[in-house]
Amino acid sequence: MPSAECYLCARRPAPHPRSQVPETFTAHAFARSQESDSLCERCAWVLKLRCWYQKTDGNWSILFARAFSWLWVNSQLVVPTIGPELSIAGKRGGTFPVVSNLATRSDIRGWLLEPPTPPFEMVVAQSGQKHTLPFAVTGWDREYFALLFEMDTVWIRKTQLRGLLEIYESLLDLGFSKTEIDTGEYRGERLAKSLTPWWPLEEKIVPYRGSRLLELVSFVAGRSITKDTTNA
Ligand SMILES: [Zn+2]
Repeated sequence: MPSAECYLCARRPAPHPRSQVPETFTAHAFARSQESDSLCERCAWVLKLRCWYQKTDGNWSILFARAFSWLWVNSQLVVPTIGPELSIAGKRGGTFPVVSNLATRSDIRGWLLEPPTPPFEMVVAQSGQKHTLPFAVTGWDREYFALLFEMDTVWIRKTQLRGLLEIYESLLDLGFSKTEIDTGEYRGERLAKSLTPWWPLEEKIVPYRGSRLLELVSFVAGRSITKDTTNA
């Protein structure tokens, strides 16, 4: 039998049957090899992956892999950390691997500004509700690379990204909210206070408004004093 390519990501080898795609999976239109009846190891693994996760309060919960943002370097998993399978004493649910080191928004900000040595795959989950990893794109150049933001491929030119992030975070530091910056609908009393520094910054945001690039910048941006905000 010829080695097939993966129905979802089109990589080879693809030793698993396509029937392992769960019925709840809805992104069939994104499948990269529509004719194929096979799945690769990674897609078959991630589609059914659920993990135990220990929250900061010590309680354990079950997280589906849909919730994760991912960093892979040279086809090796770097983030998050997925440990050996465990059953948690006193918790029903089953035996699952333990996930830790989930990417925070601040971590992802770091990936964008200082990408690892290529080839790498960055996947940024926005809603946490979609199977994203099968549709990962590979970055080949640290200065200009593609990543997957939810279901969209976004191209990052690092100098442009750095500039846009700086402008965005300067607006945050002036006291404007992400909603104000994203929509351009600024509140009058805040504008009145910061009109002079605001305008040259706003002028540079305007051409990007509505783009996925600006939405990604908005997703990872933080105020100077709270740069380490985690996923909310
Ligand atoms: Zn695959």
